[in-house]
Order: sequence, then C-alpha cells, then structure tokens
Amino acid sequence: MSANHTRILHREPSRDLPVAMSGDGPFVIDSAGKRYLDASGGAAVSCLGHSERRVIEAIKAQLDRLPYAHTGFFTNEPAEALADHLIERAPEGLGHVYFVSGGSEANETAMKLARQYFFERGETGRRHFIARRQSYHGNTIAALSVGGNAGRRAIYEPILLPASHIAPCFEYRHRRSDEASEEYGIRAADELEAEILRLGPETVIAFIAETVVGATAGAVPPAPGYFRRIREICDRYGVLLILDEVMSGMGRTGTLYGCEQDGIAPDILTCAKGLGAGYQPIGATILSERIFDTITGGSGAFQHGFTYIGHATAAAGALAVQRVIEEDGLLENCRLMGARLKERLGEAFASHPRIGDIRGRGLFIGVELVEDRETKKPFDPALRLHARIKAAAMEEGLMVYPAGGTVDGRAGDHVLVAPPFIIGEGHVGMIVEKLQRAVAAATAAAGI
Ligand code: PLP
Repeated sequence: MSANHTRILHREPSRDLPVAMSGDGPFVIDSAGKRYLDASGGAAVSCLGHSERRVIEAIKAQLDRLPYAHTGFFTNEPAEALADHLIERAPEGLGHVYFVSGGSEANETAMKLARQYFFERGETGRRHFIARRQSYHGNTIAALSVGGNAGRRAIYEPILLPASHIAPCFEYRHRRSDEASEEYGIRAADELEAEILRLGPETVIAFIAETVVGATAGAVPPAPGYFRRIREICDRYGVLLILDEVMSGMGRTGTLYGCEQDGIAPDILTCAKGLGAGYQPIGATILSERIFDTITGGSGAFQHGFTYIGHATAAAGALAVQRVIEEDGLLENCRLMGARLKERLGEAFASHPRIGDIRGRGLFIGVELVEDRETKKPFDPALRLHARIKAAAMEEGLMVYPAGGTVDGRAGDHVLVAPPFIIGEGHVGMIVEKLQRAVAAATAAAGI
C-alpha cells in the first residue's frame, strides 16, 4: 500500500507516502518497521507522542459508556469537565467554550461569534476582518479569507469574505537595525490602527492573529509589547481581538495559552491540535463573558452549529490529554527541553552559511534558511529547499514540518520543529544530529 495505490485524495497525490502503522512515544513506525522521530508532532499536534496509555484508556472507557450524544438533546460529562478545565486556566475575561472538531472550524466559529456579537448590538455595519500577511487560519472559506497566503486564496478570491492584511510582526525580517525590539513591536502594531482608520472603525469586526506564527513562518514570536499595543488599539476602536492558538496553544510555547507570556487576554481564543494531541479530533473556541452575555441576551442563541460539537469521546480524550500534561509536569519539560533544543540547534548551526535564524518559544521552534546570512536573501522558491529538507529528514527517520517563502515575497525556506512535550535530552540530541544531516543532504542535492 502507498499513496499511489489508494483511493484517497492525498495532499500531495503524486508522492509515494510511507504507511504509518504504530506509535511508540515520540516515534511513528511505518509498515517496513522504520522508526521516525516525530520532531514536528505532525503539524504541532502530537504533544504526548503516539502511545500514551492514560489517554487511550480514557477514550476506551468513554466509548464503553457512551460514544456520542447529540448536543441538541444533551450535554455530557467529559465536555463539561473539559470546558471547566480550559476556563479555570484561561486568560481573564474568557468564560465560555464552544467545542468543534478542528482548527478551521474553531476560527470559523470565532469569526461568526464576532459578527453576531455586533449584530446583537445593532452595529450591523461591521463586516470587515483584519489579519496579517503571514498567517494561516485554516481552509474553510471564512478562515481562508483571513489567511495570509495569497497563493492559497487565489482560486477562491471572488467568494471570500471582506478581509485585509497588515504586515506580520517578524523581527528577523522587519525590525530595523537601529530599532529596539519594543520600538519595533509598537511600530508593527500601529499598522493595525492605520488599517482600522483606513477602513472606518465602524466597519471592522475583528483583528485575528496567531499568537506565535506557526507553519507559514516557522514559529515567529511577537516582539515584546506588540500584543499589548494591539489590545489597546482594538479597545480604542471597539474592534474584537481573536487570537488563533490552534498551533501555539495548549502548552506548545511552555504555557498553556501562548498569550499568557504577552500579558494580554483576547476576546476570543481558538485552539485545536494539542487539545486532543491527535488522539481525537477536537478544537475549541473560547469566548469572553461579554460576547456570551450579548449573544445569549439578544437572539438567545448563537446562529451556528456542527453535528459533532461537544463530542463525548473527543472531549474525554482531550480531558485526559490535559490531565496528563498537568500530572507529569509537561509544561515545565516543554520549557526546559525547548530551551535545550534551541541552544543545541544554535550551536550546531552557528557557523552554517545557510541557516539565517533559529527562533521560537518552548517546543515551538523555527529554523530558517537563507541564501546569504548578511542580506537575509531567501533562496529561489523554485528550489523548494524546505520540501527537500523534509524529504531528506524522512530518509533519516525524522519528521520536521516544512514551508517556503510567502511573506511579502521575502521569507526564507524554513522548517518547524515542534516535538512532543515528553522528549528528553536523548531525543534533543537525535533531532539536532538528524536535522544537520538532512540539511546537508538537501543543500547538496539542490547544488547550493
Ligand atoms: N490555525 C492555525 C494557526 C493552524 O496552524 C491551523 C492548521 O495548521 C489551522 C488554524 C487550521 O486547523 P485545522 O487544519 O485543524 O482545520
């Protein structure tokens, strides 16, 4: 069996994929018995690795009790307990949860909540979203509308929602050499104010941004003070702030919610991936008391819904994941191993002429390649260096998540390194050595 011999429409139908058969901690094992160290958690999903018994047993137990009951008729214990768990730890003001099945649905839900919030207030002229050029928010039509990848949007442009895109907050690429990080953070955030004024504040629903930019940029954290300024600007014009923590949330950056480190709370926060850690498909849209009260006090109901919201088995799996993270002190390990991995990558690539930047928070690390370290000139996208690194890493038995330059036409190829929170020093060493060999093989194959 391989991708060329299945009836599934795969992401890359032309490629022959190995067949994943089993999991062992941070390793995935294919049908030939080859072991792959999952240094990207798939796409920053598998934060507990692939064989956590406590989660598997919790899912089995829930299946034995009750797999699913439609939320039009019932609520259920695991979903209620998971909501309590998330809200008790959430940034200030966030008080309610809407459960969905993944990240795109979570953002779609956030955008519709935001629109209904203004509808209930009689502010029906608000119809515009502002996002950033370097971002990914999912593949449903609303989520795609705010996504920053113009190439992905192109086919669908005539049927997308009104959205505009400001510059990302990306120190490596956009901070001037004479500027302090904080000054740059303010300058980058002030673009939001200019865009709100250009559109007319009374037309803007929300600003949506990833707290730490994931796949499209390779773990780019905001500059200090950036989100505090963004929060101020949103408040000044009554614009809602939606933080997309689908990738950067649920502990990936070393705190449960990434924005804890930026000292702000959004009006709506979305998460998915690490919430169920791949054991179950689940996402969540976490909303403020204010939005909840406005919607439930107006029409009385959020005009939205999916068949699988609050799915009992998915919620039981996610609750078990979140409990394991706390029981085993995995946020601390994420911070420790993240610092260690960044340090070791920094040492390994310190004098590598093609590695421009190593950045990130916790176990959410990006490695960017450039043609020239001085000028930061990216490689010709036609070389598809990121894809070559992914392929060479797979040969080495290492999974890293690749992406290539889409930012203002100036980003370099990069790979995302986002291993499970359960890794130890030995895994850190393996990741660094295998990635070094993969980069060497890929650059040699590309003739650079
Ligand atoms: N938002 C971010 C930041 C993501 O990284 C992703 C997926 O990669 C999504 C949204 C969409 O999530 P999903 O693929 O689960 O729909």
